[in-house]
Amino acid sequence: MSTTTRSQEEIAARVKALESLLIEQGVMTAQAIDRLVEIYETEVGPQLGAKVVVKAWTDPEFRARLIEDATEACKELGISGLQGEDMVVLENTDTVHNIIVCTLCSCYPWPVLGLPPNWYKDPQYRAAITREPRKVLSETFGFTVGDDVEVRVWDSSSEMRYWVLPQRPVGTEGWSEEQLTELVTRDSMIGVGPVKAAS
Ligand code: FE
Repeated sequence: MSTTTRSQEEIAARVKALESLLIEQGVMTAQAIDRLVEIYETEVGPQLGAKVVVKAWTDPEFRARLIEDATEACKELGISGLQGEDMVVLENTDTVHNIIVCTLCSCYPWPVLGLPPNWYKDPQYRAAITREPRKVLSETFGFTVGDDVEVRVWDSSSEMRYWVLPQRPVGTEGWSEEQLTELVTRDSMIGVGPVKAAS
């Protein structure tokens, strides 16, 4: 049975059963599991990805290392962990716009983006974004990519977790890292939304 036909309740029940088993077998304690959930709910999130993006915008050598090996480059900033062992960063340019999806389930680069939003796990998004990416972008996300820009959709897996390096907005020359970080949205690193405009 694929995850697409499982209900949220079934998944929750399976997770609960797995958790009980891990505790029972002494693999993990309840406290350790609670702590893990807390970390990914409150401490690890897109603000870490934004930090990486801003570093890439302001340091060309880091940017090159990030494109070459995202997992290693992120470690330079102290960012690593579960579901981030094999990350690949895709660079948006004037001619290419990248979008990520996991058509099979919900693979996602946790260390830089946190836990995936519900819509990312939705079978509807997973199917439609590969078929009609421009339509999904405009109808679901209200985001338009110019006709002169090629749209590429990347299917993540447990072996390869993609995410997007958005373009630095024009008019941000001389901005501080803090100011730039404010512009980086989670959706811009998934490829379904823009970075905020410089104002
Ligand atoms: Fe997946």
